[in-house]
Parts: sequence; C-alpha cells; structure tokens
Amino acid sequence: MKRTGIFFTYFQGERLKDFPRALEGLLDKPNVSYYDAVHDSRDGLFHLEPVAERLLLKVHSQNMIESVKRTDDYESALYSAGGTVQAAEEICRGNMDNAFVFTSFGDHHAGRDSYHGMCYFNGAALAIARLQEKGGKRIVIVDTDSHHGDGTRDIFKRDAGVLHVCFCDQDYSDNYNKIDVEIPYHTPDEEYLAKMKQVFIPRAKAFKPEYIFWEYGYDAVKGEYGDKGISRDCPIRLAELIKTTADEICEGRIIVILCGGSGRELATYTIPRIIAILAELNNGFKIA
Ligand SMILES: [Zn+2]
Ligand SMILES: [Zn+2]
Repeated sequence: MKRTGIFFTYFQGERLKDFPRALEGLLDKPNVSYYDAVHDSRDGLFHLEPVAERLLLKVHSQNMIESVKRTDDYESALYSAGGTVQAAEEICRGNMDNAFVFTSFGDHHAGRDSYHGMCYFNGAALAIARLQEKGGKRIVIVDTDSHHGDGTRDIFKRDAGVLHVCFCDQDYSDNYNKIDVEIPYHTPDEEYLAKMKQVFIPRAKAFKPEYIFWEYGYDAVKGEYGDKGISRDCPIRLAELIKTTADEICEGRIIVILCGGSGRELATYTIPRIIAILAELNNGFKIA
C-alpha cells in the first residue's frame, strides 16, 4: 500500500460541500494521513500550512501578489496553494508516497505576473520551486483540466527541467518540453485514454522525472462548463494510468491537485475514487 496524504481546504462554492464527509472509509486507514486547513486540529489531524510569502516571490511577481492581497481571498489562496507545497515537502522527506490536494483557488491559470479564473497562486509551480530549491531537477506536470494551463506554461516556458503535458484545445510542442494535446468536443473516453497512453506516458517515461504533478480538473466531463464529452469514469481511469506510470518511473511520487470543475456530484463521485487509487485501497470505491 502507498502512504497517501490528503490536503484539505474548502472556502467557497458548491462543489466540495460533501467533503470531508465523502472521504469516510479512507480517513481511518493507517496509510492515509489527513491535513486540514479549515477544521480545528484534533487527534489524527494535521494542520495544513499556508504558503510562505518568501516562496510566493520565487514564482509570482510582487505586483501580482499585491493585487491578490487586495481581494477578499488572499488568505484562502495562501492555504489553497499551501497544500501542494506541503504535500511536496512531505513526499520529498519520504514521509508519504503520494497526495491529493483540494483547492478552492487554483491552480493552472496563475502565471508569473497575472491570474484569472479564480486561480490566484499556482500551487504546482510553488511546490516545484520548493523541490528545485532542494535539488529537484526533472519534474512532470500533466494537466487534464479542459482548459489550457496558461499560467503554468508561462511560469515554466523556458525551464526544460519541467515537462508540461497539457490536454486542452490545441496541439503544440517545443524544445523546452512543453506539449499540448488537442481534445476536441465529443471525445469518447477511449480516445482520451488513448491520447494519454500514446503521448503522455512515453514522453514521461523518456523524461525520467523525480515527481509527477497532475492538475486534475473535471470540467471536461459531460455537462460541465468545459464539456469535452467524456464520462465521469474517465478521470478515474486516467488516475489509474497516471498512478501506474508514476509507480514505474518515479517510485510512485505523484501529487494530484484539484483544478477546474463545478459539479458537486462529480466531485463527490470522482475524488474519493481517485484517492482510493492513490492509496491502493480500491475496495468499495470502484467505478459504479
Ligand atoms: Zn478548466
Ligand atoms: Zn494546453
């Protein structure tokens, strides 16, 4: 069994209303540790730390940070990104193998100097900056949110040590290990999964990363605001593929970050199943 960390924040919106209750059956497992930014610490509960301003400045410009400070969401945004940084630290120290990070404000539309789509700070980029400080050299980000991960691309566009494979509306490839894979409207699950197998997995294997970050948006599922036609089971099958890849190439070190998606039912259906896959506790959380 893998040791899995769950990093929980929830500050606004409908989609996470069933959490952490929907994690019942996972939280009591000895290989699962739970970090919470919202609820008071109690036995078996770790506190989730906000991201430090020192680290923010490694990724985002002072101007951008100041403009987030002027919103009502600054503190929540610090916790939202903080979960990913803390997950990376714990995995780097060998305290856990993989992690699932809840976000309220994140992640991939936050660039060096600008943000949109409620993505204030880029948790993946901040965590990668921290890992690079500790000697990390080869890191993969796979992004299956429906939309282009423009903020992440902006931050790492000249850093060939970060392989960024983004499933979105365009095809693209350059010499800095930046790749886009076009997912057209009305894409069947099998076609999406085939693209993951044909494009992402071979590239990731050849890259030999130390860590994989997965920007998990479920907004490409049928009926969501980025509808690409895939079913609610497609993200779970993606999780199996990405997890297996991480097990093969980077000792299972994977951090899943909740990105776009608005539906409460889809969150409640997919997230516990993805965490069960990470923790290798698949019983009871199979695809319905
Ligand atoms: Zn999106
Ligand atoms: Zn893209």
